[in-house]
Amino acid sequence: MIEKVALISTGDELTTGRTVDTNANFLADRLFSAGFEVVAILVVGDDRERIAWAWRQAVDQAEVVISTGGLGPTADDLTTETVAEVFGCPLFLDEAVAEGIRQRFAAMGRDMPLNNLKQARFPRSAVILPNQLGTAPGFRLDVDYQAGRRHLFALPGVPREMKPMFVDQVLPWLLEHRGSDIAYLSRVFQTFGISESALDELVAGVVPAERGRLSFRAAFPQISVRLTVHGPPERAEREVAEWGERLRQRLGAYCYAEGDVSMEEVVGQELRKTGWRLAVAESCTGGLVGHRITNVPGSSHYFLGGVVAYSNEAKKGFLGVQKETLERHGAVSVETAQEMAVGVRERFAADLGLSVTGIAGPEGGSTEKPVGTVCFGLATATETFARRYQLWGTREWIKLLASQIALDWVRRHAIGAGLPETVRFR
Ligand code: ATP
Ligand code: MG
Repeated sequence: MIEKVALISTGDELTTGRTVDTNANFLADRLFSAGFEVVAILVVGDDRERIAWAWRQAVDQAEVVISTGGLGPTADDLTTETVAEVFGCPLFLDEAVAEGIRQRFAAMGRDMPLNNLKQARFPRSAVILPNQLGTAPGFRLDVDYQAGRRHLFALPGVPREMKPMFVDQVLPWLLEHRGSDIAYLSRVFQTFGISESALDELVAGVVPAERGRLSFRAAFPQISVRLTVHGPPERAEREVAEWGERLRQRLGAYCYAEGDVSMEEVVGQELRKTGWRLAVAESCTGGLVGHRITNVPGSSHYFLGGVVAYSNEAKKGFLGVQKETLERHGAVSVETAQEMAVGVRERFAADLGLSVTGIAGPEGGSTEKPVGTVCFGLATATETFARRYQLWGTREWIKLLASQIALDWVRRHAIGAGLPETVRFR
C-alpha cells in the first residue's frame, strides 16, 4: 500500500534563499488533498553527497519519493547520476529521447552541445516521463530497498514543466497503485472578514472527526477552509457533497467562493448578474482596487473607471468633496468617504460608487486616527454606506487589506448580504 510520500527539492538557488521552494508547496498540497501523507520535505543544494543523503533519508521514511530539480544539462544537475548510484542502477542512453533532443537543436539550426545528451540518460529500468514543455524528461524508478518496495519519481525543477507532469503522469499513477479503494475527496471554500479562530468556532462539529477533516489556510488576506472526506468512493462522494453544503451554510456570507477563485473574480461575476456598473474613488490604495478589478478579463462590462484622489485638492476638484467636510472631519473620515463615493458615482454615471480613504503609514497617524485607520464608502442611487475600520500591519498589508474590504463590500451588496456596522447616509 502507498500512503507515505517524501519530497526532495534540489538546487543551490533554494538553499541560498534566492528561490522560494514553491514546488514542494504545490506537491504537498496536491498530495494531501489526495489523501497521501507527506512525511518529509528535504531541500538540498547541487551537491552529490547531499543529494545522496536526501534520497537515503527519503526512502527510509516513505514508499514514494518525488524529487524536483537537477535534471538539466549542466554539470551541477546531478539528480539522475546520484539516484543511479545510490540505488545501483547503471545509466543507459535512451535513443528516442536523444534523437528528440538532436532534432530540437537541428530545428533551431544549431549544433547540439554534447552535454545535452545527458538529459537522455536514465537509470536502468526507469520509466521515462515525457516533458511536453521542456527538454528534460523525468523518470520513475521502482526499486527494492532495505525497507521494502520504493517508487522514485524525478521531475524537472522548472515549475511550469513540473506541475503538468505531476498532475498528468505522477498523480494518476499514485492513485492507481495506492492499493486501497478508499477515496479522498476535498472541497475548498474561500472566506473573508472573519478571523481564523472565529472561523474554527463557526464550523465546529460540521464534520465527524473520524471520517473527514477541516483544515484552514490563511493566505493573507483571505482564509480558505478545506474539507477532506475519506471512505469508500460512493459514500465519500455523498458525504463530501452533504458536508460541503452544511459547511457552506455555516460560513454564510463570509464564504465568497468555492475553489480557486479570487475576490475580484467573484465581484465581476456578481456585478454581471446584477447588471450594475461600478466606479471607484481611491486615496490610500492608490489605484489598487481598480487594478485588481481590471485583472479580471471582461471587466469592461461592469467597471467604468476610477479616480486616484490622493490630495485634498483632487478630492475636491475631481470628486466634489466639500471643503468644509475636509476641514471639519479630515480626509480620513466616514464623511469624506461618503462624499467620495457619491461624487465618483455621479461623475461616472455609475450604479455603484466605491471609495477608500485611509492612513497606510508608517507615518501620518495620530492618537485620534492611528496608522491603519481606513474609511470606506459605497453609494447607490438611493443610499450611501460608510464605515471606519482600524486595520494594522505594514503599508503594503494595509493597502492590500483595504482593497480586499472594498471589493468585499461590493460583493456583499450585490448578493444582498448587507454591510455590517455601517453608518447610513440619506
Ligand atoms: P532544466 O535545467 O532543464 O530547466 P532542471 O530540472 O535542472 O531543469 P533546475 O535547473 O534545477 O531544473 O531549475 C530550473 C529553474 O526552476 C530554477 O532556476 C528555479 O528558478 C526553478 N526551480 C527549481 N526548483 C524549484 C523549486 N523547488 N521551487 C520553485 N522553483 C524552482
Ligand atoms: Mg538546478
